Amino acid sequence: MSAESELLDKIRDISRPVRIMHICGTHERTISKYSMRDVLPEEIEVLSGPGCPVCVTPEQEIDRAIALAESGVILTSFGDMMRVPGSNGSLMEARSRGADVRMVYSIDDAIAIAEKEPESKVVFFAIGFETTAPTNAAAVLRKPPGNFSLLLSHKLTIPAMNELIDEIEVDAFIAPGHVCTIIGIHPFDQFAEKGFPVIAAGFEADELLLSILMVLEQQRSGNHTVENAYPRAVKNEGNRRAQEMMEKVFEVIDSDWRGIGTIKDSGMKLRPEFAMYDAAVIYEDLINEKVKDISYENSASSLCRCAEILKGKEKPSDCPLFTKKCNPANPVGSCMVSQEGMCYNWYRYRGVE
Ligand code: SF4
Repeated sequence: MSAESELLDKIRDISRPVRIMHICGTHERTISKYSMRDVLPEEIEVLSGPGCPVCVTPEQEIDRAIALAESGVILTSFGDMMRVPGSNGSLMEARSRGADVRMVYSIDDAIAIAEKEPESKVVFFAIGFETTAPTNAAAVLRKPPGNFSLLLSHKLTIPAMNELIDEIEVDAFIAPGHVCTIIGIHPFDQFAEKGFPVIAAGFEADELLLSILMVLEQQRSGNHTVENAYPRAVKNEGNRRAQEMMEKVFEVIDSDWRGIGTIKDSGMKLRPEFAMYDAAVIYEDLINEKVKDISYENSASSLCRCAEILKGKEKPSDCPLFTKKCNPANPVGSCMVSQEGMCYNWYRYRGVE
């Protein structure tokens, strides 16, 4: 009997109604790929939270990146971000209009462009959660060339979870393994104190099933706590060196999340001593001039359900555009762009239901 079958048998033995939310695009990919929702007992509902960094980057921040790209700087970005719609198209579309937008695999690729083209201004569009932020902090501490800067759109996981527990019905969380490798498991203690079991989980199918079993066991015992089900990668205290670098380079600010709105203390900006690398500071007037007339009220497709999907309130199949006007080749909303997006995974692994 496989490890997965054994875990499923145990889950079935003690299953009870529970709504478990994960906050991780990679978890969603595994769950969708292995059709885990179909094999779990029906009392167990697994919700997808706002854990896909591409999906939660708001239109405003994409518009700011496009404003820079259309003003003569070289705008560098991860590939997934290139196709995410802003209020007036994507970075890819800006490139087709003549803007110098280049896909990179890391911040080091972007710095290499700046070194190779010292006459150009190069901006790296820095998105992602606590997982990617330390790499960017380390790059800043290495003092990149003066023609290089970062347009920051980092998001923090814990404030988003706090926002969600007030808004949606959820009983337990599967904490994102990658984020936990950086911040550890203790920042999640506050949720256990409020009665939510929290399990830090890895990304294999058996690791996710184990985390669901651990949630059920906590429910049965009534002892709600934070447990580490991914000890091969996650230390309970996290990665202290990465935490120190983030602390040194960034300060916490309120931040906009696509579909959710502004969440207090959920983003980061460069500290004033690193302002020479902050594209939002260097190009502040230019960006403001370019985006000043954009209205963000009702700017997303009125039929796109990404906002509800990112909060675990609806499924992709609830969206009238799903598989019709919206598909991976022609994404209408951000949830269909990235391999970590709920709509993308639903399309790829479930298709039309
Ligand atoms: Fe938005 Fe497309 Fe998902 Fe519908 S299917 S919610 S339009 S991303």
